[in-house]
Amino acid sequence: MQENATNSVEVHTTSVLVVGAGPAGLVTAIGLARQGVPVMLVERQAQVSTFPRATAVSPRSMEIIREWGLEDRVREREFDALPLGRVAPTLVSPEGMTVPLGFPADDEARRVSPTSYAVVAQDAFEPVLLEHLTRLRAEVRFGTEIVAIQQDGTGVMSTLRNSSGRRMAVRSRFLVGADGSRSAVRSMLGVEMIGPDHLEELVSVLFRAPLRSHVGSGVHGLNMIPGSAGLTVMLPTSDDDRWVLAQTWDPRTERIEEFTGDRVTAMIRAASGVSGLPVEILSIGAFSFAAQVADRYRVGNAFLVGDAAHRITPRGGTGMNTAIQDAHNLAWKLDFVLRGWAADDLLDTYAAERRPVGAQNAARSETPTSPDLDALAIDIGITYQSGALADDGCPDGPAEDSWRPTGRPGARLPHLWLTRDGEQVSTLDLLGPGITVFTGPDGRCWRRAADLVSAELGVSVAVRVVGGAVLHDPAREFTTLYGLAADGAVVVRPDGHIAWRSQSADGLDLAQALRLGIRASLGASSSAVSDERGVA
Ligand SMILES: Cc1cc2nc3c(=O)[nH]c(=O)nc-3n(C[C@H](O)[C@H](O)[C@H](O)COP(=O)(O)OP(=O)(O)OC[C@H]3O[C@@H](n4cnc5c(N)ncnc54)[C@H](O)[C@@H]3O)c2cc1C
Repeated sequence: MQENATNSVEVHTTSVLVVGAGPAGLVTAIGLARQGVPVMLVERQAQVSTFPRATAVSPRSMEIIREWGLEDRVREREFDALPLGRVAPTLVSPEGMTVPLGFPADDEARRVSPTSYAVVAQDAFEPVLLEHLTRLRAEVRFGTEIVAIQQDGTGVMSTLRNSSGRRMAVRSRFLVGADGSRSAVRSMLGVEMIGPDHLEELVSVLFRAPLRSHVGSGVHGLNMIPGSAGLTVMLPTSDDDRWVLAQTWDPRTERIEEFTGDRVTAMIRAASGVSGLPVEILSIGAFSFAAQVADRYRVGNAFLVGDAAHRITPRGGTGMNTAIQDAHNLAWKLDFVLRGWAADDLLDTYAAERRPVGAQNAARSETPTSPDLDALAIDIGITYQSGALADDGCPDGPAEDSWRPTGRPGARLPHLWLTRDGEQVSTLDLLGPGITVFTGPDGRCWRRAADLVSAELGVSVAVRVVGGAVLHDPAREFTTLYGLAADGAVVVRPDGHIAWRSQSADGLDLAQALRLGIRASLGASSSAVSDERGVA
């Protein structure tokens, strides 16, 4: 730490300053800290949010959680609710219609993933991430907000202010704005949001009431109750009867203070259909639906992730999950550039890959009757096109109605259960820490090429021979699933997305082929990669 002589502001240095301790900021900071990158996370509030907000962690987000060894910790915090919606005259009414919420069924997810979604409230989920980050010894400062930033060619100087008004400066190579839908970082960068704001205004009430005993078994995750006051939504958020009620209102004609304890208690009793229900009000607030995406995700050495980059209505349950997956995409790229393994170009692929996902999820959440896209396709099935991979142009086989796993570059590597030393492991458990090459049972020849290229490019490269002496493929499915001959190979990035595929080793200069594959994952320009791709 240094002192700035002119105005005695402490100047701290770190590699990455992350602003905001919501899911996006916590995941970014964990992704960096677990690779040993010096990171500072600052959060304006005194603690992580105490409002439940999202209540479902998607299968792809749970894969990330599982990779970090946190799945059991999250599952311990799950509460009992069906991953389905219900439209009914009141919460306890026997007449009602069940509707899908856009989450894949548990068994559907488990066919293509080592895990599945978790029904957990965001305020129970975030502390698991924070605890993990603290164990990784990252620097976390609560009660600290960002108030100014200044960029030069080599990094960012940020001014922070703590809750007692004391200022400090942080010099970092990179800044990540994970500061939510009203992002100060976004405004300071001059980034605009594109898309509709104020689609709907809702007043939300967090309360406790013994509703589970009235509903009986099979509480739905989301209960929609149409009425004369507009739509009311009721969500369980715990096993001990903590609920959220959200109802449309008009802020042009009313003030939020007019929603008194008595008034919202009456709203809860009317929507639940239980007169005289004892209700304890925990908080009353308001929020607005928007379906927007930032016009840029990167400005110089500063990046936007999560709600700072996109505003997605809760319909479809993709807001928090998109935030988690943005952060996971960006963290390894920052790490690789900081290590000198990749050039700055790699960082441009963050926006190229994640902005279309943010835009799609925002658009999908815009209308109540948005198209019912395949729930796995928009989560596990996200396939990137960018300069951080080289499409091999090979067809996947006949087009099918629903998404299915593929070994094509851009896709998340297909999950397959293998055995190692008698224990079951998923292909997803075999990643990294740097680049991972997966090959079929006759692919040992790639090991030498990997050693050569790793030494030449200075990048850590691990090789996994599937179906060989160590990793058994009991169902012999690997090569078919990945679209490879027995000696073919794929290059997989640390975020689990395939960067390159060579369907066989036949007739190739393996070191040259793999050099192209690994350079593709490092963001070597797409034109350069496709020009040379013919060699592989
Ligand atoms: C009622 C409701 C229901 C929702 N339901 C779902 C759902 O079912 N499924 C789903 O996936 N998503 C849902 N969401 C959306 C989800 O909560 C958000 O998408 C998610 O929290 C985004 O995470 P984030 O980290 O980007 O932002 P946030 O969680 O908003 O975190 C941003 C953090 O930055 C901090 N901050 C702000 N400004 C500053 C500053 N200047 N300096 C320092 N810190 C700052 C804030 O205090 C905050 O802690 C819901 C949201 C709401 C409001």
